[in-house]
Amino acid sequence: MNNFLVSVIVPVFNEEQNVEPLVKRLIPVVKNSPYEIIFVDDGSKDKTVENIKKQALKNKNIKLISFYRNFGHQMALTAGYKVAHGDCVVTIDADLQDPPEIIPEMIAKWQSGAKIVYAKRNEREGENFFKKSTASIFYRLINFLSDTPIPQEVGDFRLVDKQVVDFLNNLRERPSFLRGIVSWGGFPTDYVYFKREKRLTGKTHYGFFRMLNFALEGITSFSVKPLRMATYFGFMSGILGFLGIIYELIRKAISPQSFVIGWAGLFTAIMFLGGIQLITIGIIGEYIGKIYQEIQKRPRYLIKEQVNIS
Ligand code: UDP
Ligand code: MG
Repeated sequence: MNNFLVSVIVPVFNEEQNVEPLVKRLIPVVKNSPYEIIFVDDGSKDKTVENIKKQALKNKNIKLISFYRNFGHQMALTAGYKVAHGDCVVTIDADLQDPPEIIPEMIAKWQSGAKIVYAKRNEREGENFFKKSTASIFYRLINFLSDTPIPQEVGDFRLVDKQVVDFLNNLRERPSFLRGIVSWGGFPTDYVYFKREKRLTGKTHYGFFRMLNFALEGITSFSVKPLRMATYFGFMSGILGFLGIIYELIRKAISPQSFVIGWAGLFTAIMFLGGIQLITIGIIGEYIGKIYQEIQKRPRYLIKEQVNIS
């Protein structure tokens, strides 16, 4: 028996069919140490909570926090980190896309000194071309825009040391993009590799718009480069406009009889400028929205019920 405590945090949202299979696969891989499995129910509307309670009755190491409503995957993880007592803490999806069987490998890397061990996908099964390519574009974009390198093909399946958990729990900001803030700390990092399986049952909660919002969240949380790019765009179109004026003036001086034709050119120019202006206002708005949310200091989630939590 090992002498360190392993915490496993599982965010769940409408995963009633996946609770029992997950527990069955998790216990054998963690039972060589004292362990706790913390389910964080993110406002499920199905029998998820009931099913977790059944498991928690049989096994005191299985714990539950449930939210009043859906606060999002990242908030569920945040709540899990707050109550986890482990010397190392693993976060894993409930749908068995992340195979629990690689946890011992993660623990071994942690024992040899890594403070963060990411599970990296080297293959994805059952995810369509669209999801794969958007994920890849997203990681490229975020790494181009952000000052914090965010590892590619890494989701929220990771192990972190107690130190990292303390760091996360003591942040004054309210991170909505945990994988970014985890990597921001610069803790010694290692990887284990796995093949991303199909979801056991149910379907993904991350459709196109949720992915897009999550991507914007990630970018604006870790960089102010978009603001700077807006400034550059402004300069560029300003310079173009200025050159245009000079060109027209010279043309008028050289051949006054040639008149300006076409509203089409004018129209495209207005549309182009209008577009750039709207995008720029949108970018500024994103950051103002973030400031607004931070100063409101509303709780990030509301806990309805806790089972076996000490
Ligand atoms: N999840 C959650 N709250 C949400 C959406 C998802 O707690 O609002 C959980 C979900 O139950 C799963 C994990 O987060 O355990 C990952 O979600 P999902 O499988 O839908 O995302 P994908 O794997 O498709 O990126
Ligand atoms: Mg999934």
